Amino acid sequence: MKQAIHSTDALIVGGGPAGLTAALALRRCGMDVTVADALHPPIDKACGEGLMPDALVELRQLGVELSPDDGGVFRGIRFVSHADQTAGIEAAAEARFPRRNGWQDALGVKRPLLHQRLAQAAHQAGVRLRWNTPVQLLPQGSVLLAGQACRYGLLVGADGQSSRVRRWAGLESGQELSRRFGFRQHYRVEPWSDVVEVHWGQSGQAYVTPVGSDEVCVATVTHTPHSRVDALLDEIPWLRQKLTPGRELLRTDRERGALTTTRRLRRVAADRVALIGDASGSADAITGEGMAMAFRQALLLAESLATLPQPEALARYNRLHSAILRLPQRMAQVMLMMDRWPTLRRRAIHALETEPQLFARLLGVHVGAESMGHFVVTRGPRFAWRLAVARSQAG
Ligand SMILES: Cc1cc2nc3c(=O)[nH]c(=O)nc-3n(C[C@H](O)[C@H](O)[C@H](O)COP(=O)(O)OP(=O)(O)OC[C@H]3O[C@@H](n4cnc5c(N)ncnc54)[C@H](O)[C@@H]3O)c2cc1C
Repeated sequence: MKQAIHSTDALIVGGGPAGLTAALALRRCGMDVTVADALHPPIDKACGEGLMPDALVELRQLGVELSPDDGGVFRGIRFVSHADQTAGIEAAAEARFPRRNGWQDALGVKRPLLHQRLAQAAHQAGVRLRWNTPVQLLPQGSVLLAGQACRYGLLVGADGQSSRVRRWAGLESGQELSRRFGFRQHYRVEPWSDVVEVHWGQSGQAYVTPVGSDEVCVATVTHTPHSRVDALLDEIPWLRQKLTPGRELLRTDRERGALTTTRRLRRVAADRVALIGDASGSADAITGEGMAMAFRQALLLAESLATLPQPEALARYNRLHSAILRLPQRMAQVMLMMDRWPTLRRRAIHALETEPQLFARLLGVHVGAESMGHFVVTRGPRFAWRLAVARSQAG
């Protein structure tokens, strides 16, 4: 018997945040879109679950409106440095997001709920969603969806960190600048703060995002694959105590782990193939920028395809994609230096603590309200001076 052939303008491999937002963006260009994912929704994943104000604006542009009822509101970031198990907090600095027209507060949204919202929006937009459907990539560009041949005009690899599409399309070449291991655990506790707290322990970071009125998400990132959330909490008793208002930790689900890298690729598009999201390069999880970068890439890909014939559109996507990764990757490098050098970390957090306006401007750069160039020219010398003062104070 002859096998049926599935045919689509755009086949998206992977239905995570990158794949679903790419689907929404491509539908807006009038393309017929199919998303295939090996898993069944709602799909969960280890993640800090923070969506910055700019990420929420991009989601809105894609037709996905999230409200405070969908998660936990937060208004800024606090860095907290802990000396060792006994000493408690040695430095803490806090900054609030800049207020801009159309910006709402940032939101912590649990991944299954975010996935549900994105999948629902994609369904309503007319995207064909194929769950429980692993995609098999064969030689010469042939593809099978659950064993069925698929004809496509464009294949989008949104299949995450260890992307097979990337290898299959010959786009693997590039540089891995860092590799760490992340875990995530939810706890039943009322958020004690309206900012995301990034706690710097001896072997890594634990960051706390409010995801509801009585729940927080704790994500940890370290260099050791076996260092789970509990191990990092042992290094930061202050945080363990905050998570334990009663007598014990109330975990609300099972712990999840995932690899996090800072990766740059030489190319993110080839003949009839484009990569998006973690498959197309990444910045260490501590930046909290993974999903926002994917949303920007989805908008860039669709805008390119809406205005140019496909080969030129993919060339444009390839050219402009690296600008989306540049700033988060720089931030990742700075954070990883602070991870490696505790003295530098102490000084930097102390400098930001004594100059809260400097930290607020830096946060503005992080969320795209100010360019890095402008910050360096107008505030760089002062920050360098503050670091030097912190150094002399440290002795
Ligand atoms: C510990 C940790 C904390 C983080 N914190 C944050 C944060 O606070 N904020 C933030 O924005 N980002 C954060 N990130 C990063 C964020 O989780 C990722 O950037 C994001 O999940 C990338 O989305 P994606 O769709 O590219 O990939 P994924 O979410 O990995 O989705 C890929 C999908 O592809 C599917 N797939 C793979 N292969 C196939 C195949 N052959 N056939 C069919 N389907 C396939 C998978 O099933 C999966 O559903 C964090 C990451 C980690 C590890």
